[in-house]
Amino acid sequence: MSSSGPLSAGGPNAPPAGGRLRALRRAWRRTLLGAGLATAVAAPAASAPAAAPVFSGQRAYQLLEEQCALGPRTPGSRGNRALRARILAAAAAARLRAVPVCFEAPLGPGGSPLEACNVVVSAGPTAGPRLWLGAHFDTRPWADLDPAPARRGEPIAGANDGASGTAVLLHLIELFGGSPPPQGVDLLFFDAEDSGAAHDASGFCLGSRHLVATRNEFGNPLAGLVPRGLVLLDLVGETGARIPQEGYSLAHAPAWTRLVFDRAADLGLGVFEPVPGPAVYDDHVPFLLAGIPAVNLIDFEYPQWHTLADTPDRCSPATLEQVGRLVTDLVYRP
Ligand SMILES: [Zn+2]
Repeated sequence: MSSSGPLSAGGPNAPPAGGRLRALRRAWRRTLLGAGLATAVAAPAASAPAAAPVFSGQRAYQLLEEQCALGPRTPGSRGNRALRARILAAAAAARLRAVPVCFEAPLGPGGSPLEACNVVVSAGPTAGPRLWLGAHFDTRPWADLDPAPARRGEPIAGANDGASGTAVLLHLIELFGGSPPPQGVDLLFFDAEDSGAAHDASGFCLGSRHLVATRNEFGNPLAGLVPRGLVLLDLVGETGARIPQEGYSLAHAPAWTRLVFDRAADLGLGVFEPVPGPAVYDDHVPFLLAGIPAVNLIDFEYPQWHTLADTPDRCSPATLEQVGRLVTDLVYRP
């Protein structure tokens, strides 16, 4: 994800100053409001609780570590291809349909195009209400906010930024294998989210933008589907995380955002705080622009963001478990 907008005064590698970032987020919010996003979201009626499997934070943490052990997962890299294969293998083991949606994406401004592939894994009934859950599985090619200037060209491990949300979705695949969901669920693994130049949102979220732009084309597994909404997971693994109501979600999908946070409150999940948070340009924005309710669950106050210190030791099974329990409940108690 991007903090959005040009940070001209500090140069591309300057660490973000809090006040400047807030101003940029406000600027992006204005831009999106100007684009006339739909804001109405219908909240589905509650139904009787169904037996839900237990989401394990320990298992999700293992899956986070496993991803980081593959090395950087930048688009076109060996680690990225290995993780895509791992997602497809997990879906096959759970007997779920998995469809890669490939496209070409430049790695940074002026970069030559590389193959990138989103993966859509589907479970549950094909008819009736659907839920979309998303996370980006690629990692940032440059640690451009690292405190050490000499190391800012190195790729990050992406434990929280990439692997955390992906770990939750990978564990859901395992749970779906044993307990088919009572509603249709599509897990959207986005590629090429994090290869933009710092402070220029146009280079970010290329996978989600492609998936939305082609969603009514032949071969796109989302063609013809209308979900209740999308829940995006990004930066959801930090030890001691605090996840407020992300700004674009709250502004453009307020009913869906409140439904998800009300559910977190019902479950007593203290990581989620029903207070307005910063607006972050992320993979949910293309969906909002297409009129699809979307909420971004993100802990954007992460000091190791886009640094070489975004490593598994910053993350915890306890945080992943709270996030996993929330999405598991949304799936099995529609
Ligand atoms: Zn990132």
